[in-house]
Amino acid sequence: MAIVYLSLGSNLGDRVGYIQQATSLLGANKNINIVTTSSFYETEPWGMESDNWFLNAIVQISTSLSPLDLLKECQNIENLLGRERKNNKGYSDRTLDIDIVFYDNLIINNNDLTIPHKYFHKRAFMLVPMLEIAEDFVHPFFGRTVESLYDDIENPEMVCLYGTRI
Ligand code: ADP
Ligand code: MG
Repeated sequence: MAIVYLSLGSNLGDRVGYIQQATSLLGANKNINIVTTSSFYETEPWGMESDNWFLNAIVQISTSLSPLDLLKECQNIENLLGRERKNNKGYSDRTLDIDIVFYDNLIINNNDLTIPHKYFHKRAFMLVPMLEIAEDFVHPFFGRTVESLYDDIENPEMVCLYGTRI
């Protein structure tokens, strides 16, 4: 079983509900076990213009799915929970986004998947919930702990804790 960290985010509608439902649906897959979850963090939109702030969390799972099959399962769940994709490039408001942040110590870079997530080390909304549940995890590409990457981040103040555990 691989240990995987997923980043869940929502900035539309019942944000808490979407993240909770997504976690339940992940756990309902016979090839996925939920190991632990971070609190929810309320965060300002990053890399996009929107008045709708996000809720973000990191969910640690163990899984027998391959990275690509896991991506497909995450996309199925996004679709089930009403995710609409616009054709234009760039970020847009979403009921739910599930990104694969780490998959064991694997490094993957192809058209469908970049693991570790390419912006993990720049995004407080991924680093802070990860600090809560796995501060000593070593980023397989940079060879540095989550804690050490967080020390270098440019906008550490953008995350505020919403305080609910999934
Ligand atoms: P974004 O998360 O960038 O807002 P999407 O969720 O629509 O956008 O994902 C766009 C594409 O990103 C997906 O079709 C997927 O193939 C690709 N992708 C690359 N690396 C990852 C990853 N680590 N986790 C999830 N999707 C990824
Ligand atoms: Mg995504």
